Amino acid sequence: MPETKANRVLIVDDTESIRIMVETFLKSAGYEVATASNGEECFSVVKSFQPELILLDIMMPGIHGFDVLKQLKSDPETSHIGIIICSGKNYIPEKYLALQHRAFAYVTKPFLHDELLSTVGKYFSISHTTIANTVEPEDQQKQFTVSLDHTRPYIRFWGTRGSIPVSGAAFIRHGGNTPCLEINDGHSTVIIDAGTGIRELGLKLMSEPSRPLHLFIGHTHWDHIQGFPFFVPAYRQGTSLTVYGASGFGKDLRSIFSGQLDADYFPVQLHDLPSTIMFRDMKENPIIFGRLNMYWSYVHHPGATIGFKFSLNGKVIVYITDNEFLRGYLGAPNVESIPPEILMQYSDLINFISNADVLVSESQYTNEEYANKIGWGHTSLSNGCLLCKLGNVKRWIVTHHDPMHTDEFLDNKLFLTRQILESIGYPIPVSDAVDGLTEYF
Ligand SMILES: [Zn+2]
Ligand SMILES: [Zn+2]
Repeated sequence: MPETKANRVLIVDDTESIRIMVETFLKSAGYEVATASNGEECFSVVKSFQPELILLDIMMPGIHGFDVLKQLKSDPETSHIGIIICSGKNYIPEKYLALQHRAFAYVTKPFLHDELLSTVGKYFSISHTTIANTVEPEDQQKQFTVSLDHTRPYIRFWGTRGSIPVSGAAFIRHGGNTPCLEINDGHSTVIIDAGTGIRELGLKLMSEPSRPLHLFIGHTHWDHIQGFPFFVPAYRQGTSLTVYGASGFGKDLRSIFSGQLDADYFPVQLHDLPSTIMFRDMKENPIIFGRLNMYWSYVHHPGATIGFKFSLNGKVIVYITDNEFLRGYLGAPNVESIPPEILMQYSDLINFISNADVLVSESQYTNEEYANKIGWGHTSLSNGCLLCKLGNVKRWIVTHHDPMHTDEFLDNKLFLTRQILESIGYPIPVSDAVDGLTEYF
């Protein structure tokens, strides 16, 4: 046992034959050994010999072994010394008391050489480990803790389904609400779209202190406004709500909202709502409030449809729910095979999403579905992948799921999306938006 040669052991026992016997076999095992025949002698040998371990008898004349133990363990100079009680008393109270006073072990006499040697060996192997570990006891004790920072800006998806809400067991994981996105930068509450998801967002907002609300409407197709009549903050006196939408196509925003709340369709009319609702045509770009700069751009979808771009915590997020990229193109997702006259129509879109940290957008149809739905305003799966590559976006969250697509179908579609992105040499992280998903920035 070369590693134990330097270890110093003190034997304290009033029986000489035992001292000699133990001394002999500890020495032959390579330990450096000293002896003492009673408590008083023990204390003086501890000073001169500086043992690392003491084998301590308890029934000795003079100071009782337990008093020796207590004194050694309470003195900072000697408390580090390991103590193994070696006693002929084989009773539980003694053993309990010894361990209570921090003895390392209690060995009853008569003991076998091997038994004592193995206990001594165990002490040194453990104490060496302990010494190594106690160099920085602070670090050893310190538990790594981290808590969620609720002040971080976030986006939360309240609705991710396109066209019409769905419900039922096949849609549980992705959810069935039509589009609604909450943007919280810590100061403002900004909402994009008033699909059916806005109903639950409204309930949440009612439990929070009232602050001005800004609602952007990407376009006024049903799935993007149909939740508004059920947006409870609009029924609260004191709510200030500004609704923003693109102009230049069809009716103005106020007419569309009051039309939706016409008495033929709904029991409460727009002018009955006690909140203050303002409608604004989006003219300036960006629209700025607080820290948030909301950029917008027209996209490829029937009517005055726009996409949005904003930053949270330095990350650029682009949100475009409805968009038909490369209308009519059914070929492979590589630029060389696309007729230039088609591609050139999308340079504004590609510029708008360019280098986004996160692109939230659709690829509502599989390639096979798209072949039968050209001109419906939505993008095919492989064209959606190519858009990410051309825009050099860093991450893609797919939203505006088709109402025909079940959870299982969407899972497979997502795997296929990853496969296509890999095949075009652009394997960015891609995931599906689901109702309730919150992304902190
Ligand atoms: Zn839509
Ligand atoms: Zn639409």
